[in-house]
Order: sequence, then C-alpha cells, then structure tokens
Amino acid sequence: MTLLKLGIVSLLGRSLLDAILPPRCPSCGETVGEQGTLCPACWAKLRFIAEPACERCAVPILQAPPGIVVCPACVISPPAYDRARAALRYDSASAPMILAMKHRAKLQAVQAFGAWMTRAAADYRSADGLVPVPLHRWRMLHRGFNQSCLLARMVGRTIGLPVLDQVLVRVRATPSQQGLGGVERARNMGRGVFDVPERRRSLVQGRKLVLVDDVLTTGSTLSACAEALRRAGATNVDVLVLARVVRGDPMTISSID
Ligand SMILES: [Zn+2]
Ligand SMILES: [Zn+2]
Repeated sequence: MTLLKLGIVSLLGRSLLDAILPPRCPSCGETVGEQGTLCPACWAKLRFIAEPACERCAVPILQAPPGIVVCPACVISPPAYDRARAALRYDSASAPMILAMKHRAKLQAVQAFGAWMTRAAADYRSADGLVPVPLHRWRMLHRGFNQSCLLARMVGRTIGLPVLDQVLVRVRATPSQQGLGGVERARNMGRGVFDVPERRRSLVQGRKLVLVDDVLTTGSTLSACAEALRRAGATNVDVLVLARVVRGDPMTISSID
C-alpha cells in the first residue's frame, strides 16, 4: 500500500470515528450539541477580522476613513497579489483548531472554517476560480490531504466557483542563491518554487483568480504563488485565507493621502 493510500485510509478512519463519537468542540475538546460547532467559551474568544482592514494584506486597522484603506507597509512594499481577505486572527484561540486540522486531520471544523471564509470572500464572487496553495509533494504523501484545497472546496461549493487545484505546482529546483541580497533572495526563491505547467496555462490566461491558504504569515508564499499565476497570464490575483497573523496593536489611519 502506498503512503498516499495509507494517508487516505487513516483520514477516512478518523472521520468515521469522529462521526460515531459524541460531537466535541474542535478547539478544546468539550462536548458540544452539534458536530463542527465550537463551545460557547471558545467561540467568544475567536477574533474575526472585520472592516476596516488593509485592502492589500488584510491586516486589521483600528480606525480609518471610509473607503479603501491600504496600510503603510503595503504602500511602501505592495504584495504581489491585488487584494487579501482573512476571516480570523491567527492567535491563541484560533491556532489550536487550525493546527489540529493541519497536523492531526481533525476535520470537524472545516465546514465552519469554510462558512467564515465565504463571508470574508464577499468581494470575490466575480472571480473565475479558486487556486489552493499546493503542498510539498512529500508533505502531501505524509498528510494525505491539502488543507488549503479542503478550504477552497468548502468556499467554492458555497459561492459557486471552480477549484483549480492542478494549475499551480511546486517545482523542486530552487535557483542558486549565491551572491544575492535579502530582497533578491526572496524574489529568487519565489521564482523557483511555484509554476503553472504548460498544459494548464489556458486555465490561468486572462483569468481573475483567488489564491486560498489556511494562514497568512508574512505573505511571501502567497506572493510567490501570485507571481507564478501572473507569469502564466492571470489578469488579477487575490488572496483568501482562514487566518492572518497580526503583529503588534492594530494601527489607526487618520487620512488617505
Ligand atoms: Zn471549546
Ligand atoms: Zn497592508
């Protein structure tokens, strides 16, 4: 039996087990009334990202004038994607659930995650498709599933967008980093890591696409993906994530210059 099959079998086994056992809160394990729902205490701790937030990177902003807001970091160094939306803050309340999905294949909360992401994706309904961030091949074999793909499927089903899970691939070779500075290194890394295979280019050319991932940390992986999609001819690349890391206190933007 291959590693992939083993992964799927153990995943199915766990899902069956989850269906038989009494429903538990995906965050703390407390018994709850319905499968996939959080207990009231964990629910109260979650911090959703509402407006105002930066149009480009989804960082929450405490106060801002009405309209489109871009945070100072994105003004100085804009990401390679056009817009980003995040459902939640990645913090001590959301991290255990997200990590349980990713590393222990605890999938009870996936439906709720999908619903929260769908709400955050309200501006993306006119897109042509959702593109999950691909996993490393060995990680995919080990885990048996790609959490970004699962999330994209949940969102796609609700808003009626196709999930294009074959258009972006991780290529093994990373170009030589010798003699490059920090910024060039980052750019060089991105260029070598993701690509759109020739036979899939027609799915990307001239399309408005939404990259889907579980967590946005620095945005460098998503930027590398966005660059690969653009090189293949995508006209617009937005980002949708379940959670976003927010460092420091939310800022206030008093005016848009
Ligand atoms: Zn709980
Ligand atoms: Zn920003």
